[in-house]
Amino acid sequence: MSNQGMWSLYLILLGGPGAGKGTQGQMLSTYLGIPRISSGDLFREHIHSRTDLGRLAQSFIEQGALVPDDITISMVMDRLDRPDCRRGTILDGFPRTVPQAEALDDELRRRAKQISLVLDLQVAFQILIERLTGRWLCRVCGASFHTKLRPPAMAGICDFCGNTLFQREDDHPETVVQRLEVYSHQTEPLRQFYAQVGLLHVVDGGQSVEEVQRDLIQALKTRLGVG
Ligand SMILES: [Zn+2]
Repeated sequence: MSNQGMWSLYLILLGGPGAGKGTQGQMLSTYLGIPRISSGDLFREHIHSRTDLGRLAQSFIEQGALVPDDITISMVMDRLDRPDCRRGTILDGFPRTVPQAEALDDELRRRAKQISLVLDLQVAFQILIERLTGRWLCRVCGASFHTKLRPPAMAGICDFCGNTLFQREDDHPETVVQRLEVYSHQTEPLRQFYAQVGLLHVVDGGQSVEEVQRDLIQALKTRLGVG
């Protein structure tokens, strides 16, 4: 970090399946020296270490029900209150809905903090479909290939053990289109919520990893004067 000012940043990263959220979130975390908090990881940690919140969340998951917002928010805020988050954090996978976003605003306000910027990785459906349907796996050695990004030497055959590659159900084109539509439908109100308060910053996630990284860092500089 070249900027020595006492900033603290609360960034939200939005982006559906295949948008590169994990990769870019990790990059931003390293670049800014603040942790990336994934709601999925938090759930797994709490359930694994059998905390009160974890046990509570698990009871809903076991009934096939959605975990109520107040439990999710408690987990996130508990994480945000730890010392490594004193200069902020990058939220990945949370908030998912407008009520969650409102609750997050309230909790941050109580701590005299606020969301700094919402970075939205937007990728054209066609590109996402190419990214998400190109993955082929080896059942025997676990190797992973991609028809465009990392093709095996011989189509359909594992480079390492010579076995036949297969495609996961989740990566079939029909399933992928459905997943993308669900994501886009669910997050639209959230994007509008942040756009209305001028916090939504759209980045073209259809570019290369390096180009997206450059645009994200540029956004931190121009919008927040950080970096
Ligand atoms: Zn193999």
